[in-house]
Amino acid sequence: MHYRHVIVGGGTAAAAAIEGIRAHDADGSILLVSRENHLPYRRSPLSREAWREGFQLEQLSIHPAEYYDSRQVEVRLRREIVEMDAEHRVLWDERGGSVGFDHALIATGCRPKRLRAVGAEISGVRYYRDLEDFLDLEQRLERIQHVTIVGGNFTALELASSLHARGKEVTFIFPEEYPLHRMLPRDLGEGVVDYLRRLEIETISGDTIVQVNEAGEYLHAKTHNGEDLTTQLILVDQGGEALVELADAAGLDTDDGIVVDEYGRCSRPGIWAAGDVAEFPYLALGQLMRVEGADHAEHHGYAVGANMAGAGTPYAHMPLKWFTLGELRFEGVGELSSRTDHQDVWLEPGQEGVIFYLRDDVVRGVLMCNQPGRIEWARDLIREARPMSSADRVALLVPQG
Ligand SMILES: Cc1cc2nc3c(=O)[nH]c(=O)nc-3n(C[C@H](O)[C@H](O)[C@H](O)COP(=O)(O)OP(=O)(O)OC[C@H]3O[C@@H](n4cnc5c(N)ncnc54)[C@H](O)[C@@H]3O)c2cc1C
Repeated sequence: MHYRHVIVGGGTAAAAAIEGIRAHDADGSILLVSRENHLPYRRSPLSREAWREGFQLEQLSIHPAEYYDSRQVEVRLRREIVEMDAEHRVLWDERGGSVGFDHALIATGCRPKRLRAVGAEISGVRYYRDLEDFLDLEQRLERIQHVTIVGGNFTALELASSLHARGKEVTFIFPEEYPLHRMLPRDLGEGVVDYLRRLEIETISGDTIVQVNEAGEYLHAKTHNGEDLTTQLILVDQGGEALVELADAAGLDTDDGIVVDEYGRCSRPGIWAAGDVAEFPYLALGQLMRVEGADHAEHHGYAVGANMAGAGTPYAHMPLKWFTLGELRFEGVGELSSRTDHQDVWLEPGQEGVIFYLRDDVVRGVLMCNQPGRIEWARDLIREARPMSSADRVALLVPQG
């Protein structure tokens, strides 16, 4: 079989690519191949809303099943693409089936980073990325009273508080001094640890698990700093790594992800990549970046799909990252790295404010805490790229009398 467009992957970027393609190509054939059991769904609620009472799994779906027929998209679930011939434009799945294509989009996302510990392959050590992971955990939860979460990113944090809200005892162990270490300045990071402690979540900082043994229904873990933990489940959420193997083996350029240009084109003609897996030129910042986030996957997927169908439009969106922590909603755009200079401006300490990430006094990233309606303002500030004094930045938020 030969298709005009083949989409490899069944996540947010893949679903958005369909819309992008159909906006410019009304009837070119489209095949979507996903190794999952489910049609494309949103992952973001899996660490929060999905744990709340009354949540219906259908709410995760990006589109109802009829949508794919209405867009004339052939969907193959439970199929994994294992090989690509970039020159002859052929893809193979794990059953040996092949498809030819004019354009192929690689939208395979990430895999969770593995725990490097002796014994980490036992069944009590789990990862959390897919709906199947949620269903598995949900089904085990009744028999579990204590969970240990390993990792320091926002989904680990959200999971810790969701499981705690479901009445579980939680130990949260993270490798740095505080969670979200790469993004948050120290004050805010320490505030996060206080928040977890107020919830009576046990926190262990600057440490990780190096050994695990299973004994009946319990797991015994040893940490790098010599602590002994007894738990019933270890959930590992240390962030993701891009699934680049397919692209690597096909001879495409890869780095932290699959390298694409501003249109989403890979280094070989007819092959494109979008979403978490792609390393793309972040035009407003003038640098290559890989972004793991739903807003980026949606906009990038759409833009690259449109370009596969001939739109010829560079991807200029500035992706939004967001996460919540109790009553605090964080929204960020640009380069959010605690390693760069930064300035915090609080309207109410620890509750309402903005963190500016700077290079030579130019704002490169903005993280807002409980500041609704400021996202476009933050994007404009980064696009402007003009040096400002710290007093100017304070004046942006605090009315000057
Ligand atoms: C629990 C959780 C909570 C999150 N919360 C937030 C949030 O609050 N805010 C936010 O911005 N982001 C959040 N994210 C991140 C966000 O969900 C991702 O950035 C987004 O899903 C990326 O979309 P994608 O389409 O690039 O990749 P994915 O959604 O990972 O989709 C990739 C798809 O490709 C399939 N696949 C992989 N390889 C193959 C292959 N060889 N053949 C066939 N199929 C393949 C995968 O099974 C998967 O279905 C969260 C992620 C998780 C896991």
